[in-house]
Amino acid sequence: MIARVIVDVPSAQTNRLFDYLVPKEWDPFLQVGMRVIVPFGPRTVQGFIMEITSNSELNKLKPILELQDHEPVLTEELIDVGKWVAEQTLCYQISAFQVMLPAALKTKVKKEWTLKNQPQSLPIFIQTLFLDTSVLTIDHLKGLTKQEKIEFQTLILEGKIEESYQLKNRANKKMKKWISLNPSSDSLEGMNNQIPKGAKKQQLLLTALMERQAPISKEEILTKLKFGRQTLNALLDKKLLIEVEEEVYREAMKGLTIQQSKPLKLTEMQGNSLLPILEAIEQTKHETFLLHGVTGSGKTEIYLQAIAEVIEKGKQAIMLVPEISLTPQMVQRFKGRFGEWVAVLHSGLSVGEKYDEWRKIERQEVKVVVGARSAIFAPFNNIGVIIIDEEHETSYKQEDHPKYHAREVAKYRAQTYQCPVILGSATPSLESYARAKKGVYTLLKLNERVKNQPLPKVEMIDMREELRNGNRSMFSQVLMEEMKIRLQKKEQMVLFLNRRGHSTFVMCRDCGHVEMCEHCDVSLTYHRNQNRLKCHYCGNEHIMPNTCSSCGSEHIRFFGSGTQKVEEELTKVLPEAKVIRMDVDTTSKKGSHQKLLEAFERKEADILLGTQMIAKGLDFPAITLVGVLSADSMLHLPDFRSAERTFQLLEQVSGRAGRHELPGQVVIQSYNPEHYSNELVQTHDYEKFFEIEMGQRKQVGYPPYYFMVLINISHSELTQVISTSEKIVDILKRELSSTTIILGPVVSPLAKIKDRYRYQCLIKYKNEPKLMSVLHTIQEHFMNRINSGHLQVQIDLNPYTFM
Ligand code: ADP
Ligand code: ZN
Ligand code: ZN
Repeated sequence: MIARVIVDVPSAQTNRLFDYLVPKEWDPFLQVGMRVIVPFGPRTVQGFIMEITSNSELNKLKPILELQDHEPVLTEELIDVGKWVAEQTLCYQISAFQVMLPAALKTKVKKEWTLKNQPQSLPIFIQTLFLDTSVLTIDHLKGLTKQEKIEFQTLILEGKIEESYQLKNRANKKMKKWISLNPSSDSLEGMNNQIPKGAKKQQLLLTALMERQAPISKEEILTKLKFGRQTLNALLDKKLLIEVEEEVYREAMKGLTIQQSKPLKLTEMQGNSLLPILEAIEQTKHETFLLHGVTGSGKTEIYLQAIAEVIEKGKQAIMLVPEISLTPQMVQRFKGRFGEWVAVLHSGLSVGEKYDEWRKIERQEVKVVVGARSAIFAPFNNIGVIIIDEEHETSYKQEDHPKYHAREVAKYRAQTYQCPVILGSATPSLESYARAKKGVYTLLKLNERVKNQPLPKVEMIDMREELRNGNRSMFSQVLMEEMKIRLQKKEQMVLFLNRRGHSTFVMCRDCGHVEMCEHCDVSLTYHRNQNRLKCHYCGNEHIMPNTCSSCGSEHIRFFGSGTQKVEEELTKVLPEAKVIRMDVDTTSKKGSHQKLLEAFERKEADILLGTQMIAKGLDFPAITLVGVLSADSMLHLPDFRSAERTFQLLEQVSGRAGRHELPGQVVIQSYNPEHYSNELVQTHDYEKFFEIEMGQRKQVGYPPYYFMVLINISHSELTQVISTSEKIVDILKRELSSTTIILGPVVSPLAKIKDRYRYQCLIKYKNEPKLMSVLHTIQEHFMNRINSGHLQVQIDLNPYTFM
């Protein structure tokens, strides 16, 4: 038998199948989708079996070294999805498969070399290598000359040096040890006769096991029952007891308190939205729904009931939530309804925990997975519904290779399983809403909040006016007043600071010089706790200078206000207020996110202060005021979606207020209150926003009127970047149709990163049948070129970042 394998070497030359001989003894077990270890040139690497055949065009094949699985880790369906992702995003197939699997399954292979005979007969350079070690690793060989490397290989072939390899897994199965009586032993009395008279402890342990009439975990014996290791080992040695290992799952999201919940009686509007979804589930029909419901309109309850129906039918559900809204509160809602049937996948879990959650899915032991973007690849085999909450979130698009969008993968998989996809949002992406209006998606609407609470009242404050009135603080008068009232009434508030585009850079007040990274064309960010300046692109750091590096002036200061600064200010102006700050700094430790939110829920603080991560998913009854400190920091980013993102974010944040009995109020501070995305948040008028924004997009030819492709070209030499970019644009202009618009090449907004110069060009098209083939050609041509080592051509279809 011959296995055709895709190897874990991401490069243009290796993006194809390689044939390997299957050792006879594995013939009966071998299946497509299993992991193998194979020799590859001088290396030993991991790979996935894609095909099994009986003949090969090559006649001298190397054998597979190891078979890593008993069961395939990739199902036929997922292999198909992987190929499709690779094709659609122009990535290597291996990259697509790696992103679909938990990191724990990725095995690193480490080669080792030992001596077979005495070293005396070997060349001097080999003898030196083995002077202070008996095992060589790849690091030892780094200093060898080419000639010496050849000699080394020859010695391996001659059998004088032995080559072996070790597999390094990122995580293994967690095993629990159990102790039980040896089933072949007879009575307690008979056993007692085999141990010395004075060995009281051994007798006691035997009795304990006899009385329990079941195995006891080793851990319990040693810690709870307090037997010594010697006692236990003595009995194991005499074979009176035996030890067995059993695989256990690590507990993800430990300490989560689960309150059971029952399906709620739906409101009429909810019922009307759920009905067509249930019909699609019933008819095993692929249909995409866009559930447009204002914040607090009960979308999640609809998801829960749709999932319940799917489970009822013996099928499974994938529930995607943006990483930052995947809060314990969110998970609690799903576990509360479906208990043990829920697996959770998100980046906060350790490699081992993720592996365990993944295996519960793979073994079809759970029915629902709640997870962030990559959970779309959950290895279920009978999917009944795929739900994407907050479908407008750009985090559903992966920024690194493979640059896939979870929404597109969802639709592809749902097509295979003939099941519905539900996209939910209070502020759908323009792309999705336009599709729903055209009838491509089925539009479902929830116009009101569940208990008929009004949407919160929004007050827009013109910060320029504040400044004119002599208020130089970061809080407007209105916000100050409202905060004081809440403190008196013991109600809770959320203060939101949009950090994006607001980094704390350092500028000289005399000459205007901004401290920049010398490798990247970006300003350095100030980190207060370490008093250092760091580059967020390459990691380069400096100690914070005392004087301007350009003119020597001492008048240098930080710009942009971080959450820390707001917190300091709060303690000055509202000393009696208790504040919980949530940002990257306070939530970097595992579980801290959860702890802070629970503390806020227990009302240990009056104010929750934070960044993007508090904009979503929070549902606390006592929040009656939301303050947005800077509404416009995102409006001025070089991105055609900046207005859309501003509106979405403000609407999301506002949605945190007044979700229950107490009415909510929102105060938004802005330097640009007349901008339509700020203005329309006041009336929560998504429709109007959609209309105006669509008008803008139409005028300048942006999505959803056009599709876009961004091509990024980078090289350490500027001349190379420019000439390659021009060549690419020439090819595009020659090959693509005349209605397609090609912009550039131009220098990228981030002109240099890690000492590489960056250029880009943009393709805008409506209908371009040749697109994929032309892009494939470009990528292959430029990446396959000899000396392409320094050149990078990155193609991003439907891009979300333009930097
Ligand atoms: P959304 O996901 O649209 O923001 P949620 O699903 O979080 O809205 O619902 C808001 C609140 O209303 C939650 O506290 C939820 O428990 C409650 N809720 C939802 N549906 C119902 C219902 N049919 N009856 C009573 N309460 C409901
Ligand atoms: Zn840098
Ligand atoms: Zn200066």
